Amino acid sequence: MIKNMLSSNPSRYDIEDCSACGKKIIFHPTIAPNHNIIWRKSFTALQETLEFWSPVYNIHCRHSCPGKFTRTSNLNEHIIIELDIRHQKNLKKSLKCSLGEFPTTMYLGPRNQATKFEYRLAGVVEYLPGHYIAHCIP
Ligand SMILES: [Zn+2]
Repeated sequence: MIKNMLSSNPSRYDIEDCSACGKKIIFHPTIAPNHNIIWRKSFTALQETLEFWSPVYNIHCRHSCPGKFTRTSNLNEHIIIELDIRHQKNLKKSLKCSLGEFPTTMYLGPRNQATKFEYRLAGVVEYLPGHYIAHCIP
């Protein structure tokens, strides 16, 4: 549902500039943390799990193209983080936590750049079988 509603206003977009097939923009309605870090350290480590590298050079193009591309990643003014954390994909239940474990402020941006943007937690959406619960932060 979120992916469809926010497809025109993504959490992150990547510009992929291929040496053979040109430039593409890839939209990411949500961003995903590193599940292994959260599984080991809990949701208090969320900022650490969202670190990324940008730009990344010499990636083999995945569009049946012989070229290589450079990916430049950009976060939007808002981000939605998918937190269905499972240590292994076949686990039926995701990791549980309390709302107090979520950082209320995070500083995010490319790991290899000094400039980070401040993000404030606005809310958490919890899924329970059959319905969703919105927890809004005043
Ligand atoms: Zn290409």
